Amino acid sequence: MVASQQQRPRTRRRNLVGTSSFPNPNHASGPDPELKHLIGADTNKALEIAERVWWVGHVLADDPFQCHVYLLEQGDQSVLFDPGSRLTFPGTLRKIEQVIPFTQIRYFVCHHQDPDITAALPLIDAMNDREDAVVVTHWRAHALLRHYGLKMPFWLVDQNDWKLPLVDRELKFIFTPYAHFPGAICTFDPKTGVLFSSDLFGGFTEQPTLVARGESHIEALKPFHEHYMPSNDILGYAMAQIERYPVEIIAAQHGSIIPRSLVPFLIEQLKQLDCGIYLLGQDDSDIRRLSRLNATLRDIAETMLLYRDFRDIATRLLELVQRSLPAERIDYYTALPDGKILVLNPENRFSGSIECDSPEFCRFIGQDREQWVRAHQDDSSFADHHLCAGAFCEEYSGPTKGSRIAIPLIGPSQQRIDGFAIISLRDRIPVTKGIEQIVKQLADPLQVALEREVIYREIDQEREKAYQRSIRDALTGLFTRFYMQDVMSRHCALHDRDPKAEFAAIMLDVDHFKRINDTHGHGVGDRVLQSVAALLTTSSRATDIAVRYGGEEFIVFVVGQGQQPAMAAAERLRTCLMAAPIDVANGNQLKVTASFGVATRVPGESLDQLIKRADGALYRAKENGRNRVEPA
Ligand code: GH3
Ligand code: MG
Ligand code: MG
Repeated sequence: MVASQQQRPRTRRRNLVGTSSFPNPNHASGPDPELKHLIGADTNKALEIAERVWWVGHVLADDPFQCHVYLLEQGDQSVLFDPGSRLTFPGTLRKIEQVIPFTQIRYFVCHHQDPDITAALPLIDAMNDREDAVVVTHWRAHALLRHYGLKMPFWLVDQNDWKLPLVDRELKFIFTPYAHFPGAICTFDPKTGVLFSSDLFGGFTEQPTLVARGESHIEALKPFHEHYMPSNDILGYAMAQIERYPVEIIAAQHGSIIPRSLVPFLIEQLKQLDCGIYLLGQDDSDIRRLSRLNATLRDIAETMLLYRDFRDIATRLLELVQRSLPAERIDYYTALPDGKILVLNPENRFSGSIECDSPEFCRFIGQDREQWVRAHQDDSSFADHHLCAGAFCEEYSGPTKGSRIAIPLIGPSQQRIDGFAIISLRDRIPVTKGIEQIVKQLADPLQVALEREVIYREIDQEREKAYQRSIRDALTGLFTRFYMQDVMSRHCALHDRDPKAEFAAIMLDVDHFKRINDTHGHGVGDRVLQSVAALLTTSSRATDIAVRYGGEEFIVFVVGQGQQPAMAAAERLRTCLMAAPIDVANGNQLKVTASFGVATRVPGESLDQLIKRADGALYRAKENGRNRVEPA
């Protein structure tokens, strides 16, 4: 035992920066929320980050990691956090000695077992001549660290109520298991509000700064946590533990020291972060690329959920794919229920068209995955194609050197190829694991999106048919009264605004039609009605509107004409009908006539009134002997 725990021995302090005492965080002011005193400080020296808490880290030139080591100066009861490796320890030792003699350290806290924080333990063990010095850790880390064969004993947080009493404070240990290691812990110092967070809140930075500045620091944290932390649940659990403490400063082992102003923001962001993305690319050690890939995959999934219109999906997908591939365009092909192929491409603005010249691999639509794979092995036309994870890359035969990635879209229920997405690339590129991931991620939601598109199309066609049914009379094919109301009230409004936009109604009724029914049967009657309707259509102009108004009553609206031309038109219809006998069953012909009433709309008149006047004229035509035209 070198000194008693009670007395605080004199300590050596020399060549120090920022030795002024720090306000207690329990006071209103607390430590500077931005740690301004550390910005631009000389990192060749030990730096006091909070009252009696020192940064004694050492950065290797060729290492993207920062290796931050922290010293809690407590006289001969001092604590060193995550001491470091054999590579960094000489630098750290030099800085410790700027604050206190190394022999004043009694506690060596190891938050986990990684070599970058613990490999210096044998060096420390050899230097140590104190009997009370201990390695502070969790039992799971101890199970591994004991293999260093140290003389120094272990002091396990889980056997000591997760607390370590010191001279002027009591440290609390926070269990953050499986946040990359089963026995991982953090330490909280209630006196200063410093959280010694070890790997949590670590980061990668190209231009490392000692203090994190601004919310953009999350970008440094993202790849580190996405890659090292196995799952979002585990990271979320760790964050929930940490949130219970009034954290003023996060003293992370990697990356930068995090000031109070960023703590709640970073905790919130980490809670929502995707983790475990090393699962994406087994051979890929480029963490940033994996991180980007992960973001792309997430955005693809989000796009499929957010957008319903295929035009939006296609536009957004191209942007997303272009993040990782030199893609020029993506074309989509999908089978319609009638066997035709629907093409969605930039030329038709992804609204779909039926085209005959779809790419040759569209012949696989309707086949299953096995047939597709077998074709790649057996079919000579696939000689240049490289099959990978269900996609294949094809070289252009044309003058431009590019390639295509064809993604078969396989329906989940039948496991048949429903369509293809074809990504055209500017260059020929090797299909990496990352590209495979994107292709895989695209295939399922695209299949769903295209299937949805086909269903929408069918619904649209059904709706169009239903509309046609509502505006066309089933027997004659002429417009219905429903359609007449709709269109002619618009013509009335137009005529009210512009007197030149006049129109007339020619109303006609087949003469003695009941007799035809009674004599020849209802079928013949129907046949006559169809013939009259056909004559009305062929003998009137394209702008005229022929309506089946009732049983054997019709109206032809003559648009853009006044009374005289309308009378002439009616007369023409009458003579045509009379002159053309109608073929009915068994080679028989029937002569049919009709009576006509003509009314021209006067401004302000309602459609009903106009029809009533035409009907009045028609009545007179009947009265005056039928087969004649009467004006209203
Ligand atoms: P008028 O010269 O006075 O007009 O005598 P009409 O016999 O033509 O007149 P009426 O109104 O007495 O008879 C019309 C008949 O048309 C009665 C009805 O059964 C028949 N009819 C109505 N709709 C249809 C149909 O869709 N098909 C057939 N075959 N007959 C119909
Ligand atoms: Mg580490
Ligand atoms: Mg009649």
